[in-house]
Amino acid sequence: MSISAQILEIVPKNIIRAAASIKLLVLDVDGVLTDGRLYFGEEGETLKAFNIQDGLGIKMLQSADIHVGVITGRTSRPLENRVEELAISFTVQGQADKFPALEEKRLQYALELSEIGFLGDDLPDIKCIQKVGFGICVANSHIALAQLADWQTDKTGGFGAVREVADLILAAQGKLDKILSDYSL
Ligand SMILES: [Mg+2]
Repeated sequence: MSISAQILEIVPKNIIRAAASIKLLVLDVDGVLTDGRLYFGEEGETLKAFNIQDGLGIKMLQSADIHVGVITGRTSRPLENRVEELAISFTVQGQADKFPALEEKRLQYALELSEIGFLGDDLPDIKCIQKVGFGICVANSHIALAQLADWQTDKTGGFGAVREVADLILAAQGKLDKILSDYSL
């Protein structure tokens, strides 16, 4: 059985349909692209750790013509460096209310809400998760999100949750096995 078939076998049909429509995946940062911990250096600078497997998942989505964007409540330099490295389509920082920023990007990309996925971990992400076609939360999300989201990852934020979503979206769109075959002998 192919990797795609293995992934899709355990996912409900309505979730596969939602994932199959996604043209833009929007990610929260703290607790999603990171494990949510902030390290404070001696000079007061903030450091964050990003997951390398999530990074490849983002690259895989981009190679399949699926946009990936970031909307976060905080503002940070480490994030700017990481999104530049990954050539992420857009980064909106310092958004206490994330939905207006999501709506602005939706219009800019001329997409329907049903074509957007959002992955979050905490209360500021609820509105986006409820509005988009594929609302997802990480395994260690606040319980309020777990009840509202269409789907919850098995992996936690900063430990492969983004990669898990990337694999699911690509599998649902029939694009994963081709990408994986490029890596195998
Ligand atoms: Mg968060």
